[in-house]
Amino acid sequence: MDQPVGRFAERISHLAPEGAYEVLARAQALEAVGRDIIHLEIGQPDVPTFSNVARAGVRAIQEGRTRYNPPSGVAALREAIAEDVGRRRGIDVKPSEVVVAPGAKPMLFFPTMALVEPGDEVIYPDPGFPTYAAMIGVAGGVPVPVRLREETDFAFDLEAFDGAISDRTRLIILNSPSNPTGGVLAESVLEHIAAAAKRHDAWVLSDEIYVRLTFGGVSAPSIAALDGMRERTVICDGFSKTYAMTGWRLGYGVMPESLAERLGLLLTHSVGCTATFTQYAGLAGLTGPQGQVDEVVAEYQHRRDVLVDGLNAIAGVSCQRPQGAFYTFPNITSFGQSSEWMADYLLKEAGVAVLPGTAFGVGGEGYLRLCFANSLERIQAALTRIDDALSKLDKA
Ligand code: PLP
Repeated sequence: MDQPVGRFAERISHLAPEGAYEVLARAQALEAVGRDIIHLEIGQPDVPTFSNVARAGVRAIQEGRTRYNPPSGVAALREAIAEDVGRRRGIDVKPSEVVVAPGAKPMLFFPTMALVEPGDEVIYPDPGFPTYAAMIGVAGGVPVPVRLREETDFAFDLEAFDGAISDRTRLIILNSPSNPTGGVLAESVLEHIAAAAKRHDAWVLSDEIYVRLTFGGVSAPSIAALDGMRERTVICDGFSKTYAMTGWRLGYGVMPESLAERLGLLLTHSVGCTATFTQYAGLAGLTGPQGQVDEVVAEYQHRRDVLVDGLNAIAGVSCQRPQGAFYTFPNITSFGQSSEWMADYLLKEAGVAVLPGTAFGVGGEGYLRLCFANSLERIQAALTRIDDALSKLDKA
């Protein structure tokens, strides 16, 4: 590659690819030479975009909804999101507090840019979605990872959290249900975090993208619903996981109106607006029948159980039953190898693509992430292959 003539800004020097894309590329290279690879690395629904949603998107294009729209989103969608978020979380949300964006990721990135000054500390989960650390760095913030521990069902280690928070903390990032652990933060944990946020005058960015994907009657409460938290919380959510719309790019944030106005300006000067027809597709998803979401969640729950039971039947592997999202996070410490080594071994030896826990921070060492948004048949085949491959390894 040509050497660039100029220097790059320091603020992007820490950026690294997301582990899922890296492993996908390696898996595809093996497929190109004829290997059959089972993909449990990428976190996206295996079902197609719901048909009523896809039809609404196509219709919107045919009707000419292909021009610019307001930076914070079309009014009808902002209204529908305000109603949906308010009803599901038991809070009062005005359309003016909703900001629509091309995916949920911008609603992680822009709030961080809007709230964090260089040198401000930001608390975030480790293991956690890699975008958190990436965007804290771009904003010039000081990353303060707080461990999620298996012993406490992958909730925040509250003792570590209490040690990490101070008046220097500007923002606390939460993710429940969690990627990569599938853990759900209980109301008592949220109460603890909320009290500390209020004491130290910190904002909370609550990534709730998996909130509709919970199992066995569990629901994931939102910190925004707790007393005095609406005014210091940004909810990040979107359509990618719930309506199988990962490639459409549609997400949103819910936040105090004054912050929503500033984020509208950030959108104005960055993306301009979110694709107009995509928003009409999302509107159909949100306001249409929700039965298909329930059906898919029931199917995920069945696959989760098959995967968790299968993993726990493999000598040396132990796996908690996640309460939400579509990931399992098995403990593989008994093999005495790093997560990175184990993921690489399973790809090459078993033809099963999984992510090392360390793709989500140092707190992920000793774990792998397997996505169960795949067919039962492929999950079962993956279990057989993993079992065969691991039986060849010594235990530590
Ligand atoms: N937050 C979490 C925890 C995720 O796992 C993902 C996607 O994998 C996102 C946000 C981003 O969602 P989107 O594709 O809508 O930008």
